[in-house]
Amino acid sequence: MSWFKREDGEFPASGGPGAENGSDAAAKTVRTEGLWIKCLGCRQTIFKADLDANLNVCPKCQHHFKLGARQRIEKLLEPGYELVDGGLRSTDPLNFVDVKPYKNRLSDAREATGLDDAILNAVGLLGPHPVILSAMEYSFIGGSMGAVVGETIARAVDRARLDRKPLIVVAASGGARMMEGVVSLMQMAKISTALAQLDDARVPYICVLTDPTTGGVTASFAMLGDLNIAEPGALIGFAGPRVIEQTIRQKLPEGFQRAEFLLEKGFLDAVVPRRNLKSYLIRALDFMKVSEVA
Ligand SMILES: [Zn+2]
Repeated sequence: MSWFKREDGEFPASGGPGAENGSDAAAKTVRTEGLWIKCLGCRQTIFKADLDANLNVCPKCQHHFKLGARQRIEKLLEPGYELVDGGLRSTDPLNFVDVKPYKNRLSDAREATGLDDAILNAVGLLGPHPVILSAMEYSFIGGSMGAVVGETIARAVDRARLDRKPLIVVAASGGARMMEGVVSLMQMAKISTALAQLDDARVPYICVLTDPTTGGVTASFAMLGDLNIAEPGALIGFAGPRVIEQTIRQKLPEGFQRAEFLLEKGFLDAVVPRRNLKSYLIRALDFMKVSEVA
């Protein structure tokens, strides 16, 4: 005889993401997992709610955790912004399979993030300034840039040019999406061309590089801003350090490819802590005022 008899169906069998919705039994469960998180910077255990309240920055050591595209838009824009250019999905042009089919990777990522791909475009107000904001989502296949990310950013650029509103891109990406091969690489040229038109139209573009911004994203739009700024400690680079060391046969210096190092070497215009980011962008836009006509 057992100590404790459980009626079938009294408790949900598993606490998967789908199990949280609507079920009374699930609502009564006290969840303790995910309340605490270990900081990657200072190794201390921090209360998740404190982290959330502090824009996902460690209150003890100021380590900047990643911020999702939705949260990023919410933190930067005033309420009432509108999400635009959604609904695009990758067609898997190469029918690519590595350890699992790319189609499955895409559907898993869609389910996990609730997004169609690694990007969201929004139109709204940043302080007093009407802007177009494009924010990347690292948790969607490493924020990689395939045809959908490329097209969505290109649409944000065109929108900025036609509406004469400054463009802000928040980059967070492992680079081009290898599962789309040359199609991802072509996005670099497409976005760069659109940005050149934006420049001709004299509409400002600010890129915010967050941890990490690497590969084909760094090699195209992330470094093409009128102002290129980064969050503290962000990893920013093209190839990884090991590949570079093997190529140039030299040991790389301390802090190589971190935001502060790149600022010192002139690759960036500023390193701005997340809590100051919004006010910094507002001041920059005050300064860059867009004229009504080109
Ligand atoms: Zn910390």
